[in-house]
Amino acid sequence: MYFSSRGASFVYNPRITPKRPILVASVVPTDPCLPYASSPNIASFFAFLHHTSMPELPEVHTTASMLHTLIVGHTISDIWTDYASPYHRGKDNIKDPTFFRAMKKLVIQSTVVSVHRRAKNVLIELSSGHTLLVHMKMTGHLLYGTYQRNAKFKVQNAKVTHVKKPSDSESWRAVAPEILKDPFNQFLHFVISFENGKHLALSDMRKFAKVTLINTKTLYASEHLKHTGPEPLEKTFSFADFAARLAIASRGKIKQVLMDPYIIAGIGNIYSDEILWAAGVHPLSTVSKIPLSSLKKMFRSMKEVLAKGIDFGGDSTSDYRNPLGEHGKFHYHHKAYRETGKKCPKKGCTGTISKIKMNSRHAHFCSKHQTLYN
Ligand SMILES: [Zn+2]
Repeated sequence: MYFSSRGASFVYNPRITPKRPILVASVVPTDPCLPYASSPNIASFFAFLHHTSMPELPEVHTTASMLHTLIVGHTISDIWTDYASPYHRGKDNIKDPTFFRAMKKLVIQSTVVSVHRRAKNVLIELSSGHTLLVHMKMTGHLLYGTYQRNAKFKVQNAKVTHVKKPSDSESWRAVAPEILKDPFNQFLHFVISFENGKHLALSDMRKFAKVTLINTKTLYASEHLKHTGPEPLEKTFSFADFAARLAIASRGKIKQVLMDPYIIAGIGNIYSDEILWAAGVHPLSTVSKIPLSSLKKMFRSMKEVLAKGIDFGGDSTSDYRNPLGEHGKFHYHHKAYRETGKKCPKKGCTGTISKIKMNSRHAHFCSKHQTLYN
């Protein structure tokens, strides 16, 4: 199931876009309770642990668009989580049990009014006047289907792929559709039950996802959203806007600047590589040294690559799945990202795709047609 990028509605409001970027260190504690899986595919499954890519704009957009179709009009009968974490005590997200209990009272009996996206956040607007914000972070993805809750599911044979931690007193298991039994779909840490018997479940292998509830009237002014950069696919986001945003970090390296959510929303490791490959710009180029003609190419390729990502239903190089548990297909169309050692697919180019380390990430690029401006 694909959702076209064209005609999509975004919720970007330029009035709340910050004038200056606020750089926030992304220090995330490693959760010691990494679950294990019982699956014949266990080796390949854990191989992904070392190659996770965060969902980016096209993946989050796909999720929000599909959920809008699937859950609008549904009334919440219950919510459940096992996210409780001492790192989040006193914070406004469901990893704090006190916050979760208060949130539960506010959302039960409310109906889903709409589902949309801002940056990498899925926003589920409720009739109660609140909006449920879900940031999927590294490995989270939202799934819609029928689930059962209890503690008695046991792994009976290799074909049963239910994932259970030894310490769990409760857990959830997908009943239908069958694809939800994919091991990547079974790290369930947050479940919404609807009155019609269906569920919205958050599978989150590394437990980094954020779920919170915000008054809808103050949603875009909240700490969770107010520092987020403009939406790159917004029709009103012009080349002049793009150039002005990049100029905020004029001494930065272009790949890192493109990936900075406070400069432009939604672009991460995969799509920055693909945008720069298409524009012929080396990822280590200094922003201020990139000529105007190349900046214009980058602006066009940014819009095209992100729209293509949405048209292919996102990218499942890592563990992203859409709300029906299905893979996206953008990863079949990579030109540079994780194509290291392959001949550059650009027509007439004789280069090879190379990989270099940039901070904790890798950049993939063509050594021939992507020019380094320094
Ligand atoms: Zn090339």
